[in-house]
Amino acid sequence: MCGIFAYLNYNVNKERRYIIEVLFNGLRRLEYRGYDSAGISIDSSSSSSSSESPLVFRQEGNIDSLVRSVYEEVAETELNLEESFSVHAGIAHTRWATHGEPAPRNGHPQSSGVGNDFLVVHNGVVTNFEVLKETLVRQGFTFESETDTEVIPKLAKYVFDKTNEGGGDQTVTFSQIVIEVMRHLEGAYALVFKSRHYPNELIACKRGSPLLLGVKELTGNMSNGSLFHQTEFPTKNGQPKEFFFSSDAHALVEHTKKVLVIEDGEVVHLKEGAVSILKFDYDKAKNAVGLTRPASVQRALSILEMEVEQINKGTYEHYMQKEIHEQPESLKTTMRGRLIRGGFHKAKSVLLGGLKDHLKTIRRSRRIVFIGCGTSYNAALAARPILEELSGVPVTLEIASDLLDRQGPIYREDTAVFVSQSGETADTLHALQYALENGALCVGITNTVGSAIARNTHCGIHINAGCEIGVASTKAYTSQIVVMAMMALAIGDDTISSLSRREAIIDGLFDLPSISILPLDKICH
Ligand code: GLU
Repeated sequence: MCGIFAYLNYNVNKERRYIIEVLFNGLRRLEYRGYDSAGISIDSSSSSSSSESPLVFRQEGNIDSLVRSVYEEVAETELNLEESFSVHAGIAHTRWATHGEPAPRNGHPQSSGVGNDFLVVHNGVVTNFEVLKETLVRQGFTFESETDTEVIPKLAKYVFDKTNEGGGDQTVTFSQIVIEVMRHLEGAYALVFKSRHYPNELIACKRGSPLLLGVKELTGNMSNGSLFHQTEFPTKNGQPKEFFFSSDAHALVEHTKKVLVIEDGEVVHLKEGAVSILKFDYDKAKNAVGLTRPASVQRALSILEMEVEQINKGTYEHYMQKEIHEQPESLKTTMRGRLIRGGFHKAKSVLLGGLKDHLKTIRRSRRIVFIGCGTSYNAALAARPILEELSGVPVTLEIASDLLDRQGPIYREDTAVFVSQSGETADTLHALQYALENGALCVGITNTVGSAIARNTHCGIHINAGCEIGVASTKAYTSQIVVMAMMALAIGDDTISSLSRREAIIDGLFDLPSISILPLDKICH
């Protein structure tokens, strides 16, 4: 994992120093995801003319070393930090190297070459970068990094130059160029593009890696769930706004709660204070000749449930420590309204709203297959005995990537349960696609409302564990197990013979949050 952050201020004056700090702060919020180097790009002048090439700063090591190197360079070049921009598009990145050692030349933004015509920040891996690189080298491009990413800005420049050859088609839009680039990319990516040919615009797109858009209206009211539409473009809506792209919600919540979870294949274009979203169809685009014009789509903003306090450590030294101690609360929230205490004539039971219409199908399935990666897989491993015991249905487990490598059998009669804290885990998502194609009933267990797994499964359960920042999972893991136990109870709910056993488990679940967490020294002695 690694991170993308971008910031575009529109019709509101912001000084260069402020813009840089917003970018740094965004990167700090994404730090927990792990990285080995970081970088940013900002404009060199507020005149918004395409002749000025944007500035790029990249450094290996932590954000602090990037910050230091930026301010050192600013001092050396006497760049004016007080210069004000009424509109400005800045991009930032934390890199976790997949191709090329951590070094400034391999950091992002990666560039199309001298002049920084196109700059790209990328999370993911371009699997066909070698053939693209060979082609671009033949076209005269010189590569400066060992990354897979560098083909992306260079391809963008190639497309731009080609379409403008001989004075050519000046009307080619930034999104058309990006779509043409996407057409040639294989692998997984979240990308944000910046270009001096399209000053003050940004384009984001994704396939596999997560990316969100945050929108902050600075005056007036924007009703919840307001729609973006391509037709907003010509209106040149002058209302001051701030836009943010981020790999996750942690970096957005302090700015705005109005977000859009970008879907695979969507191309989000920020221009003149408006957002337009185009849907890129890989299969159609593959066979297209010339620049394609995909359909625009309307999407509603959703409101983040996260609070700023959740992303602060509070009195704890580490996020993980904080999250260990939040377990009683997260378990309570996970079970709230779902475990029914019963009464004089009424048995204790479980109510899972997201699953209830599908329980019959699940009971009739030939097997229940849990599919996940890492912690989520382990949560399923821990919950399997209770699931088998109460459901009476055989339960098997699959590591998502292994299932895909083997193209393991998944049948229409299967219930496939996809477990992922973020709901965006790439391998789990691919396995979901595979199971959907094979006709299985697909159930999601995620901690992220609106995530790709939550959206694309037939039904599911949200674990309600709150935001987890520590890389080693604690409260999300325990909440996942509790959700699976509740799922076992719900599936077995029609069996009279196991009623007392189920009631005992429900009692145990009710007691769980009050079982205190022992301080480490007490456990060790
Ligand atoms: N594959 C790219 C690289 O190695 C991006 C890695 C990342 O996701 O940070 O530069």
